[in-house]
Amino acid sequence: MREACIIRFMQCELCQNRVDENNTKKILNMDICHACLNADSLHVRLKDRGFNLSYAYLTKEGMIHPSEDFVFDYTVHKLSSLGIGPYDSNIDAVLVHEGFKAKVTKIFIKEIQVGDDKFDPKVYIKTDTPDETGAFLRLSRVQEVVMKLIDMQSEINIHGSKLYVMTHGNGPIDVNEFTLYSGLLLNLLMEFSQP
Ligand SMILES: [Zn+2]
Repeated sequence: MREACIIRFMQCELCQNRVDENNTKKILNMDICHACLNADSLHVRLKDRGFNLSYAYLTKEGMIHPSEDFVFDYTVHKLSSLGIGPYDSNIDAVLVHEGFKAKVTKIFIKEIQVGDDKFDPKVYIKTDTPDETGAFLRLSRVQEVVMKLIDMQSEINIHGSKLYVMTHGNGPIDVNEFTLYSGLLLNLLMEFSQP
């Protein structure tokens, strides 16, 4: 007698590929496939969703590299990710660690807080669109992804359909983690913006 073998399929919430359930893991309550978790060609796999992701990094020697060959280089000094999605968020904002707020040079009209005890002391927000920015940042999953990026000393810029995340590492940066969380934030921004 042969036992029936049932494989359950699930959809990865980031790339939206169908994968068998053993191939996913919960990250902040989202089912994410292993390829996404490893940031394996994430920019290629998110193209079908209309997401355009690109990366650049600067090494200590002052060399700028495009994304393709960065993954195993941990001497990264400055790393940035530019994501462009299909929908306009109507948000214009910059987010940094509270400790770095003096470095914000953008002239936005308003400083806002979202009313969360963990988030507000950590994240400094300046925006020209306080209503839309507040609505997005009050979503708990958004707060968790933002805090992850802020813990990596990132500056996060949101401008309409564009998301620019940049970090200056004093020590080694976990490039895969930075790539994954930048992708997750773009995904949440597009979920929020979808008409
Ligand atoms: Zn995936």
